[in-house]
Amino acid sequence: MTQEREQQKAQRHKQRQQKVKQGVDAKIAAADKEQGVLVVLTGNGKGKSTAGFGSVARAVGHDQKAAVVQFIKGTWACGERNLLEKAGVAFHVMGTGFTWETQDREKDTQAAMEAWEQAETLLQDDTINLVLLDELTYMVSYHYIELERVLTALKNRPKMQHVIITGRACHRDIIELADTVSEVQPIKHAFNDGVKAQLGFDY
Ligand code: ATP
Ligand code: MG
Repeated sequence: MTQEREQQKAQRHKQRQQKVKQGVDAKIAAADKEQGVLVVLTGNGKGKSTAGFGSVARAVGHDQKAAVVQFIKGTWACGERNLLEKAGVAFHVMGTGFTWETQDREKDTQAAMEAWEQAETLLQDDTINLVLLDELTYMVSYHYIELERVLTALKNRPKMQHVIITGRACHRDIIELADTVSEVQPIKHAFNDGVKAQLGFDY
């Protein structure tokens, strides 16, 4: 490439970048609202709960108050609990009842309701900056918790409170209500190659 062509290329790159910067700056200037954000992390790929707990760590790192309700009783996500409880994060884990294996609908519903009541208390507490409702989507899909009740609690929460909901197949009405929605797509997963869930990495 001649020197002249290289200069032209550099010039075009600079112009493009200036345009990008102008666009971004204008958007930043226009985004002047302060409010709690409702986030949904859904889809079949890996990373939803990981991202939810990452956000909790971020809040705690700024000395903010965060709380977690886990709607599936299981062995995973224990690593985060061990760490974050030490940092003052309140955890409510669905005690007995629902796992992927249970078949006792009545018991599951009761366990889900108990966990949801904890969530409702958190959603009325304006001292809590961030609430993570991990795997909540299943409770709605299984009709263990009434959709309307979930929507009402989310709508009436403190104005500055952030809420993150994770889980596959999130109900469209929750997606509609949310401010930020990300769908994690499974392009590959090691599990499908026979790699079992690894301590400290998957849970
Ligand atoms: P993670 O907790 O790792 O962020 P996740 O919250 O996105 O995962 P879940 O649907 O809650 O995904 O799955 C819980 C467990 O199943 C985790 O151990 C995770 O690694 C594993 N998992 C997630 N996605 C897949 C997938 N597409 N295939 C197989 N296993 C998966
Ligand atoms: Mg998860």
